[in-house]
Amino acid sequence: MNVIENAINGTRSTSKSDRRQPVFNPATGEQSADLPLSTVEEVEAAIAAAQAAQPAWGRTPPLKRARFMFKFKQLLDENADRIAEAISAEHGKTHDDALGEVARGVEVVEFACGIPHLLKGEFSRNAGSSIDVTSDRQPLGVVAGITPFNFPAMVPMWMFPIAVACGNTFVLKPSERDPSAPMVIWDLFTEAGFPEGVLNVVHGDKTAVDTLLDHPDVKALSFVGSTPIAEYVYARGTKAGKRVQALGGAKNHMVVMPDADMDQAADALMGAGYGSAGERCMAVSVAVPVGEKTADALVEKLKPRVEKLKIGPATDSDSEMGPLVTSQHRDKVVGYIDAGEKEGAELVVDGRGFSLQGYENGYFVGGTLFDHVTTDMSIYREEIFGPVLSVVRAAEYADAVKMINEHEFGNGTAIFTRDGDAARDFCEEIEAGMVGVNVPIPVPVAFHSFGGWKRSLFGDHAIYGPEGVHFYTRLKTITSRWPKGIKEGAVFNFPS
Ligand code: NAD
Repeated sequence: MNVIENAINGTRSTSKSDRRQPVFNPATGEQSADLPLSTVEEVEAAIAAAQAAQPAWGRTPPLKRARFMFKFKQLLDENADRIAEAISAEHGKTHDDALGEVARGVEVVEFACGIPHLLKGEFSRNAGSSIDVTSDRQPLGVVAGITPFNFPAMVPMWMFPIAVACGNTFVLKPSERDPSAPMVIWDLFTEAGFPEGVLNVVHGDKTAVDTLLDHPDVKALSFVGSTPIAEYVYARGTKAGKRVQALGGAKNHMVVMPDADMDQAADALMGAGYGSAGERCMAVSVAVPVGEKTADALVEKLKPRVEKLKIGPATDSDSEMGPLVTSQHRDKVVGYIDAGEKEGAELVVDGRGFSLQGYENGYFVGGTLFDHVTTDMSIYREEIFGPVLSVVRAAEYADAVKMINEHEFGNGTAIFTRDGDAARDFCEEIEAGMVGVNVPIPVPVAFHSFGGWKRSLFGDHAIYGPEGVHFYTRLKTITSRWPKGIKEGAVFNFPS
């Protein structure tokens, strides 16, 4: 059995932990690897390696750090298929979708290549007589990242390229459900020539996370995962005096106005609702058509599309959607479909009981469509994280806005319309961190920043882009005077 290794101080090593967890191929249900859950001592060793490497790395000129990053980007491009295969084998998403994930991670590496420019400070000559003031941003030291299963390559790359380019060293604790892609990435990072200890990877569960949260040498922590854990990580990390950004769950709505192109809207909902089997924090899980006629037209367009979804393993290039990540998660999603039916929603397409010849033990659920969902139902309130789209009918545009603003999550949202006035109003009034206008999944490009509002993000900074640079650096402002001679002697008051 393949045993997943840690990577500490430039070397791969097998954990000595007696606690292990299986990793599965979700398309077949077969175990593909064994994952040791690292001990406290092993996580501490990774932190110590990062701590030892940081002073020299932090003093390395940003231009030189960027050159390693350029090499890393080249290797990522050359090995994109290899990374995508590692993702699909343990996550289940299609190869093209996995390649897209890699590409979005590489964009952050490209952004980090510009770090000399991004770290340029501010300068005021003659801020006072003969006084100059500079402000610049310096690294924090050792920082850590804890990442979810749904983007095992991209989410780590939202974090460590910027952290490392800023002069920090990094400890990554990936998801225990698909740990192999981060190891391929670590291999490429090492091949790019980064010094030992700059990026360390330790696998594990709550024990590893708590060690990172409590350790005094870890100065900042980036977390992406579900809201209850994000809230826990934020509370415990900040209590220990760390800077924490903790991105949580979502329930993303897409408003369809009566003037929208219904085919375009339906196609957008298919990709955003069922791509990656709905296991995306920016997936659209609620469609909000405005007006009964719009709703009827939209559901009529969606139904045959959902019924025709091509579901299969990642190894079949015709697959549009793969399995769910684990059998437990499959059961949870099926449980939500049961609940929606019991709560009185109209089940237009039922994905339960889906089975694929040759893959009977895979964790597949078919595309599911509910209509007449109401805001008190659990399938509306809670994040399902599966291929289940709920249609909630809104009588008026204002009802759609109110519904979205009252939801506990505020990650992404979108409006489909041809009316610029409605779109402008939506952008201004809506309470979500990322808004799409005729764009169903408005994930910001790497030179902007990604982050939700409300219970989708705990902390003050969004992730990657300029906000990432701010999160991983601290401001230092230097006031200097080079007088000809201090003839006047000491000064006891603030100069007026
Ligand atoms: P998860 O919260 O179960 O796990 C995330 C990480 O936390 C993993 O590394 C896991 O090992 C660790 N963890 C789990 N339980 C823990 C505990 N009790 N104490 C300490 N650490 C613990 O999330 P997941 O199921 O891997 O990922 C799916 C979730 O992530 C969804 O809710 C999704 O919306 C969210 N997500 C959010 C974003 C975003 O940008 N907001 C992006 C991707 C995923």
